[in-house]
Amino acid sequence: MRTRLVMGNWKMNGDLQANQALLSTIVRTVQAEPSIYQKGQIVVCPPFPYLAQAAQSLVDSSVELGAQDVSVATSGAYTGEVSASMLKDFACQWVIVGHSERRAYHGESSEVVAEKAKVAMTNGLTPVVCVGESLSEREAGRTLAIIDEQLKPVLALGSAVLAKLVIAYEPVWAIGTGLTATPEQAQEVHAFIRGQLTAAGVGHVQILYGGSVKANNAKSLFAMPDIDGALVGGAALNAEEFLAIAAA
Ligand code: PGA
Repeated sequence: MRTRLVMGNWKMNGDLQANQALLSTIVRTVQAEPSIYQKGQIVVCPPFPYLAQAAQSLVDSSVELGAQDVSVATSGAYTGEVSASMLKDFACQWVIVGHSERRAYHGESSEVVAEKAKVAMTNGLTPVVCVGESLSEREAGRTLAIIDEQLKPVLALGSAVLAKLVIAYEPVWAIGTGLTATPEQAQEVHAFIRGQLTAAGVGHVQILYGGSVKANNAKSLFAMPDIDGALVGGAALNAEEFLAIAAA
């Protein structure tokens, strides 16, 4: 039985005051309704400067902390980068790697993404590896081929690493656009990914869906057999909306 997982990717949003309000509502609600919110795992991923603030707010909470990216390097002359051990210092247990915004704006290749997943794993963080096709790739009928390409270097990491990661399927055309993949469209890709993972000996790995997940579409997505939860962007900035997704 795979555990349900709902992660909030705050992206480059928030400030001390707004974060405090968001975190305290989440923590309070999760604690008050354990039968609803503690059946699965909830994770929040604030921007780097706010990890310390979030870590403090989440002490004694079942809600866990993640980061939005990690360096492939361990330390040294890498201006602007943040290492896995630094994330561990601030109580992170999770890290998103290969988000489509990193791939698009920072030129991250699937090889770099796989390297990041490995570094995260080695340092005791659970990497959440994002994959997904663009609209033109989908329209050209290349969705599964693109997912296959993006997964290849990750699958090559071997079952010891793979056993401890999470995959997030995020069609680029659905991110922040209000266009969600239908549950059937998402399930088709999730089943493909599940097949690849099973062939690699790690069929139990969680696969999240991401891309305009909201309270009103979460339930139908989560009803699909290979969708184990969600990576939530915009809706993660609103405590009520995010909690409603987690409750679903
Ligand atoms: P969205 O973002 O929920 O705002 O579409 C999802 C993501 O990019 O992880």
